[in-house]
Amino acid sequence: MKKAIVLGAGGFIGSHLVKRLKTENYFVIGVDLKYPEFSKTAADEFIIGDLRDPDFVASCIDVEADEVYQLAADMGGAGYIFSGENDASVMHNSALINLNVVKEAVRKNIRKIFYASSACIYPKFNQEDPDNPICSEDSAYPAFPDSEYGWEKLFSERLFNSHHRNFGLNIRIARFHNVYGPEGVWDGGKEKAPAALCRKAAEAKDGGQIEVWGDGLQTRSFLFIDDCIEGIRLLMASEFSEPMNIGSEEMISIREYTEMIINLSGKSLTIKNIPGPEGVRGRKSDNRLVNKVTGWIPKYSLLEGTTITYSWIAKEVEKAQTAKVPG
Ligand code: NAD
Repeated sequence: MKKAIVLGAGGFIGSHLVKRLKTENYFVIGVDLKYPEFSKTAADEFIIGDLRDPDFVASCIDVEADEVYQLAADMGGAGYIFSGENDASVMHNSALINLNVVKEAVRKNIRKIFYASSACIYPKFNQEDPDNPICSEDSAYPAFPDSEYGWEKLFSERLFNSHHRNFGLNIRIARFHNVYGPEGVWDGGKEKAPAALCRKAAEAKDGGQIEVWGDGLQTRSFLFIDDCIEGIRLLMASEFSEPMNIGSEEMISIREYTEMIINLSGKSLTIKNIPGPEGVRGRKSDNRLVNKVTGWIPKYSLLEGTTITYSWIAKEVEKAQTAKVPG
């Protein structure tokens, strides 16, 4: 039986990855500051602890692991990353985690390690035209990410890469583009655009309004969680050690996406544009490389993935509202 360690197994992508590895018959050890929020972990063992602490990292990276997945990070949606208030923590916390993990992976001679990077590493100046954003892997340099979160991810890509070059660490690096789906954070400030828009639509009364940050003309692509997990597994099985996009090429403006979600809600709602953190004007994955190397293409259309996600969030909103009703 193969053994995998998933760091960040209490989070959105990590908890789904653990489920998938269990279906593939791995023995899975999950590590996180917290258990998954929305369902019981599928991991065989779950270790609670802080990966910023090198002694803790040394204690949970097992020399017998066949694969380590490094997904732990201090992260959130635009409201968290672009407010400016979390910049120092994001950089410090995530860099410490990665510094500890990479060192321990070399020390324990781990056979293969996956690192979750982000589309946020791509230069801002290539994402100013909402109709033609450039996010091919080779466009990362000269670097100019639009957030400290992106800079930290770029630093950590280089950290993993330098340990690959100097110590032979067997690495895989994915640049995820906006992953969404059931069991992702949907309120509290760390939620990302798809979850926030689904929540707003689910909470709104028929005939009401939905607030959207910015003019809504900014474009994005969103990747459904099941496709993301499949992409991770295919990348892991490949021999490719350079960073690779894992995202969707189905680009949509935030206004059109909000309209799609309003339709799914079955309500009559109007959109109100308000000032808020927006990020770059346009972003979408470029999947030429990942497709060529692994054959991966996302299976879910945005409408299919969002239908599943809206229905999950609408139930969560209902549960939360019922819990608030006195008596
Ligand atoms: P998430 O926030 O749900 O999961 C991250 C997990 O890391 C959390 O459960 C958190 O508790 C844990 N963590 C944070 N600090 C820790 C610490 N000091 N010690 C132990 N655990 C700690 O995020 P996610 O959406 O599942 O993302 C997983 C990874 O993928 C992250 O590295 C993220 O930056 C990257 N990523 C995600 C997306 C996306 O759209 N979800 C896009 C690009 C990149």
